[in-house]
Amino acid sequence: PDVTLTEFVIGGAARFGDATALVDGRTGESLTYAELRSAVTAGAAGLAAHGVGPGDVIALMSHNQPSFVVALHAAIAAGAAVTPINPALTPGEIAKQLRLAGARLLIAAEPVVDKALEVAGEVFVLGEHPRARSFTSLFTDGPAPELDLDPATSVAVLPFSSGTTGIPKGVRLTHRNLVANLAQTRAGWRIGPDDVQAAVLPFFHIYGFTIILNSGLLGGAKVVTLPRFELDEYLRTLAAHRVTRAYFAPPMVLALATAPHVEDHDLSSLRFALCGAAPLDVEVTERAERRLGCLIRQGYGMTEAGPGTHQVFDDDFTETPPGSVGRLSPNTEARIVAPGTDSDVAPGETGELLIRGPQVMDGYLDDPAATAATITGGWLHTGDLVRVDDDGVFWVVDRLKELIKYKGYQVAPAELEAVLLTHPAVLDAAVVGVPHIEGGEAPKAFVVTGDTEDTVGADELMAFVAERVAPYKKVREVEFVERIPKSPTGKILRRLLRT
Ligand code: ATP
Ligand code: MG
Repeated sequence: PDVTLTEFVIGGAARFGDATALVDGRTGESLTYAELRSAVTAGAAGLAAHGVGPGDVIALMSHNQPSFVVALHAAIAAGAAVTPINPALTPGEIAKQLRLAGARLLIAAEPVVDKALEVAGEVFVLGEHPRARSFTSLFTDGPAPELDLDPATSVAVLPFSSGTTGIPKGVRLTHRNLVANLAQTRAGWRIGPDDVQAAVLPFFHIYGFTIILNSGLLGGAKVVTLPRFELDEYLRTLAAHRVTRAYFAPPMVLALATAPHVEDHDLSSLRFALCGAAPLDVEVTERAERRLGCLIRQGYGMTEAGPGTHQVFDDDFTETPPGSVGRLSPNTEARIVAPGTDSDVAPGETGELLIRGPQVMDGYLDDPAATAATITGGWLHTGDLVRVDDDGVFWVVDRLKELIKYKGYQVAPAELEAVLLTHPAVLDAAVVGVPHIEGGEAPKAFVVTGDTEDTVGADELMAFVAERVAPYKKVREVEFVERIPKSPTGKILRRLLRT
């Protein structure tokens, strides 16, 4: 349907009235659907009276909390595009995103207001702060502004990609992109008023934003926000709120697979658990499933696809194999091509995934050359290697950019990481390519081990991998580290390990 994102999500959810829409999992502060809708309207009217309208960009920098959602949809309902900012960024990085996005004001959570004031011209605070005006002081009665914008071309959200492989890229997502992706997701997941979703993955990233937050609100679910992932608090929240749908990134699954006390919590309400954003090993998945008492299946997407392109539908949950990312979302087309060419690979072969559908971005922010290189003939080049089986189920192999070239052979780091994680002493692992005299480049593993009881030597680990993979894939160097650097959604930051 050709409506704005806020009409679709908040307008559509108005019929849930007095049901709880959002709860702050820490403070217990909550909003009903009716209250959410009137706060969004009052915020939009206030922003419009303040001069905000179509063509403006508003920056929003906050951890997950109910007032994030009010500010987000108020700004969009005022006609602005919202650029969400990771509150962990440094003032210099914040200033850069504000400049690139052309943001005219910044709405910041109370804990990061000081940083916001250093770099932004005008700052409103979610909460109270002695030096910044509170966002709610803008609220005015009266209808939300009548918008004259075209959902097909107007940008609603300007997220930045995770920056896993380079500098984060600003992504122009229109109202239509986001509404289409929510409708596609909804076709496979029957999220309803009886559902409760825990929202710990950050709303500033597209996964938390579309898949967890907006799809939950659209279905009339109760969305419980948490500012960060702490395993015990998270498990207590799942139990206390009787959460029915959990959304993970791989480090959360890893924590669930290894923590000793998961079974102490009553998680019997969980029906579906999903994971996305980075490769997830099957054995880790199965270990975590046993502790949770719930199957974990994956979805796949990227910021440029608003974000979802593959998902495991509710009806397919049991039969879809772990390790796969499920089937194409409705109304989405895929091609798998030999990298660097325009020729489709033979059925069942691995190649680069191209995607076409209404969720594919309008383009990168101010970068027509990058847009033209990424979208050709309507096809989005994902940069990911995948294969599809006879049932239409897709498997992600790894990112093209991350492949290690050993003597002309290609080695996927994700495969070696999965093998390493099956060693009992290994808590976490990351593999990168390092210069190698004979091979040109060869796999090096960075490994986190547990306490002293479980110590394992580099040679033993290399032998362990060598017994399980073809010789050209062997890990040829091991370094033990305290932790693996990861993005907020659990993507391994290999570039930090290479330096
Ligand atoms: P950048 O493009 O800035 O380097 P990024 O690609 O990590 O960062 P996102 O858009 O957040 O930024 O992530 C999309 C990528 O995440 C996909 O291209 C893919 O590599 C990876 N990904 C997402 N879901 C999965 C999954 N289920 N399995 C493996 N990889 C996944
Ligand atoms: Mg990317």
